[in-house]
Order: sequence, then C-alpha cells, then structure tokens
Amino acid sequence: MSHVVTEACINCKYTECVDACPADCFYEGPNMLVIDPQACVDCGMCVSACPVDAIVPENRVPADQLEFIAFNASMSGTLWPSIVKSKARMPDADHWAKIPQKRHVLTPPSVGPGVDLGSSNDTGR
Ligand code: SF4
Ligand code: SF4
Repeated sequence: MSHVVTEACINCKYTECVDACPADCFYEGPNMLVIDPQACVDCGMCVSACPVDAIVPENRVPADQLEFIAFNASMSGTLWPSIVKSKARMPDADHWAKIPQKRHVLTPPSVGPGVDLGSSNDTGR
C-alpha cells in the first residue's frame, strides 16, 4: 500500500508534506505534488503535515478521488522531478484551498499512461 495525493493539492502545493517524509517520496508537477508508491513506506507522517488534507492512505481514497491512485503512480519517478525540500506555496493557494473540485485546472490535464482524471465545470472563480 501507499499514500496518495488527491485533488485538494492542486494549485495549493503548500509542500509541508515534503519535509515530513523520511523516504523522499514526493514528485513535483506545475501545480500539484504526487507520491511515488514504490518509495512510500506508509509511515503517515505527511498526512497531518498537509494543511488541506490532500494526502490519504491508498485504501481510504474517496470514491471520487480513485483516479489519483494511478495518477500518483504514473507521474512520480519518471515524468515529474523529485522534490525533497519545502518551498513557497502557490500564489493563490489559500483561495484554491477552499475549492474541492479543481481537477480541470491540473497542469498538464489528464496526463500519464492510461490515466483519465475527467473534468469538472467548476471554474474555481
Ligand atoms: S502539503 Fe498538501 S497541499 Fe501541500 S504539496 Fe503536500 S499534499 Fe499538496
Ligand atoms: S506516508 Fe510516509 S513515506 Fe509515504 S509519502 Fe507520506 S511521509 Fe512519505
């Protein structure tokens, strides 16, 4: 099992989770982080570190977030670079933290082999 970064991270990327991780599991996209399921040791340290509760154990991922299991696996380790130290949050992080449906602004959208995150009509504004 692994832990999974879900939709809540998009456009927030507070990155506190990175400093909490003892196994350097995180990879960074333009507006979201993901966890490498091969590296994750399931310690759970990152869960409480995330201000927006974006990280959940794989076996507790909500039904509407299941696509993010494959997305984390797909983007980590190959397509996105490793991040091992926290950095400044995204400029509008506090605004986007209040918006639950924002996968339509994920950059790049619906990427990764066999991964379709779908879309939402919520503009976020
Ligand atoms: S702390 Fe939460 S919002 Fe910030 S990068 Fe990690 S998972 Fe994303
Ligand atoms: S559960 Fe532990 S090992 Fe896995 S990503 Fe979170 S902090 Fe890292």
